[in-house]
Amino acid sequence: MNCTLYGYYGKQLRVSLNTGEIKTEKIDIDVLKKYIGGVGYGARVLYDELEKGVDPLSTSSKIIFATSPLTANNIPGGGSIMVCFKSPLTQIWGQSRCGGNFGPDLRKAGYDALIIEGISDEPVFLTINNDDVSLQPANYLKEKTVTEKTALIREALNDAKISVLCIGPAGEMQVKFATLMVEHRAAGRCGGGAVMGSKNLLGIAVKGTRQAPVADPDRLKTAIKNVIGTIRTSETANGYREHGTTGVMGPNDAAGDWPTKNWHANSWGKGEELYDTFFKHHLVKNKGCYRGCPIACGRIADVKSGKFKTPAHEGSEYESLSAFTAFVLNDNIESAIHSTYLCNEYGLDTISAGALIAFAMECYENSILTKEEVSGLDLNWGNPDILPVLVKMMAFREGIGDTLAEGVIKAAEMIGKGAEAHAVHVKGLEGPAHDARASKALAVTYGTANRGMCHIQPVEAVIYDSGKMDYGLMKYGLPDPNDVERWDEKGKGKIVKMLQDALTVPDILNTCKFFMDAGITLEHLADLFSAMTGWELSGQDLMTVGERVLNLQRMFNMREGLRRKDDRLPERVTQRPAFGYYENELQCEINNFERMLDEYYEARNWDPKTGVPSNEKLEQLKLENALPPTKIKVHLYTTLKKYGEGKINENNTIRLPEPLSLQELAVYFNIPDNPGYVYLVNRKPCPKEYIVKDGDIVRIYGVVGGG
Ligand code: SF4
Repeated sequence: MNCTLYGYYGKQLRVSLNTGEIKTEKIDIDVLKKYIGGVGYGARVLYDELEKGVDPLSTSSKIIFATSPLTANNIPGGGSIMVCFKSPLTQIWGQSRCGGNFGPDLRKAGYDALIIEGISDEPVFLTINNDDVSLQPANYLKEKTVTEKTALIREALNDAKISVLCIGPAGEMQVKFATLMVEHRAAGRCGGGAVMGSKNLLGIAVKGTRQAPVADPDRLKTAIKNVIGTIRTSETANGYREHGTTGVMGPNDAAGDWPTKNWHANSWGKGEELYDTFFKHHLVKNKGCYRGCPIACGRIADVKSGKFKTPAHEGSEYESLSAFTAFVLNDNIESAIHSTYLCNEYGLDTISAGALIAFAMECYENSILTKEEVSGLDLNWGNPDILPVLVKMMAFREGIGDTLAEGVIKAAEMIGKGAEAHAVHVKGLEGPAHDARASKALAVTYGTANRGMCHIQPVEAVIYDSGKMDYGLMKYGLPDPNDVERWDEKGKGKIVKMLQDALTVPDILNTCKFFMDAGITLEHLADLFSAMTGWELSGQDLMTVGERVLNLQRMFNMREGLRRKDDRLPERVTQRPAFGYYENELQCEINNFERMLDEYYEARNWDPKTGVPSNEKLEQLKLENALPPTKIKVHLYTTLKKYGEGKINENNTIRLPEPLSLQELAVYFNIPDNPGYVYLVNRKPCPKEYIVKDGDIVRIYGVVGGG
């Protein structure tokens, strides 16, 4: 039998910081076939290895750095690493993508994934050079910025080019929305930097000389050529190259897709002007986030002089600049550029940081936060001077920054006095720079995305609803976006289900999602993957893996106690904007979010009352590890049959939510305990106290009363 594994190494590195033990482990090929890599593999590891309720900042938590066979510099969009962890900000599923060479270089070192667990007694950094892996003392890195840490680690290793991923001071201070940084590229959302900081792991340096064998090199060459050819002719790709993501500030403002003043409005009227100033005076050049990106959407920007003087650096993306302009009504682009630069240096998520400042400004406006409580600072809307000050205070947990560093839910709780009415979030994650009042599909994605109100999963909803792009999914049954009105609520549940299943695939393959905006389809990705691994997958197969992974992440959240009530939208996001272009636009209102959710649950085959994926769905997706372990056959005596309806399937099979005795089983079915029952288990009479086991066949007969 040919046992060669193509595309993968079949190996992961596990580093236990409690003991300093470093070991290489084999990865089960069947797991790779089901979950592929990236957030798929990360979901499987975290679901299996983390206990319910684990504190994300405790020694029992883990952080996974996952790659896929397409993580490589020569694969278009293949330069990234997916990081998976339980979020200290939201206490649920956390994931984040980071561009840069770290992912491709981890693969070159010969590992498909890296798992970090435990807590080191002293600050350390990890170095990986093929099989040479060690922990190094890192006391001297404490409180250094990201640029300083990166330079110091390279200096210590005498290697100016080694890939370095590190945290900034905010990660060390366990700010709940601290980032992991690869130079100025961020795994930004959900607080992965705090998880790494809690482990006393300040950085990871990696390089290697290996290459996983490719199943069909000629086919791979052709598949890469096809993708590059599509990118070359794509207007979207050209737009990203010339204007980056930042270029959509004006169009999104005009479309009502620009959350403004802590979500009081969805447009401001200053987007175009702000972007023009940025483009003319501050954009230095474009840059790919990894060696070889054919789109290269990254921005190098600077502020040459003045009080916000900032060196040329990578950053100034759409989300970051929006968070420090529209979110807080600041029309000074230089202050915004400087603040986002500081976020990158200190290791703070720009979206959450801007959202927290907007929240604080609103509390200040409503006298919930007094001048004394904010150290005498002027927190009036639009004050450009206060933004960099608050960024530093959050990163180093100084004054009011210490409260804001906890994230918006906890900060509102700590401030009290009704502050929670001003906290805009879903599941604890602060909202990004897209507005559900512009696209009703976005309302569903915001409500249901596994990590909360994130900026990655919603993008496809906006692009479908407003941009009229179908992602090549019409052949799978997605309605033509040109036939769908962006304001309509009906039909959006089903549409979002398909968009989510398909557009989570890049996060599983570790490829950049922007390539799908530029015309790369699931079929292109399947061709690349099949050529690399020799496992023949279709676009539909990839979409099924996407659905599997989303359901497993959902089960991770269900295990933490989330239910339908948590799939919600902040109230003000459902209401007509208070000002701006859409102030009088009734269609902006979200009238029946619950009905959209019903439709979405039905498409997903999730329980309409609880939002928990049905056992049937989990079985269909082969998510056996997420199914309740006890599966039994139950035969109810004829007169009792009505009690089994909806619980027992046509084969009389049922999965029990937890281990039950026979008596509890009768209660589970709501069978009245009168006059009593006879229980046969595997054809033998059994006492009521018997706890049923997986595979048992249980018969329950009613006892006929009388003499
Ligand atoms: S398109 Fe932009 S984000 Fe995507 S891989 Fe290229 S540079 Fe990175």
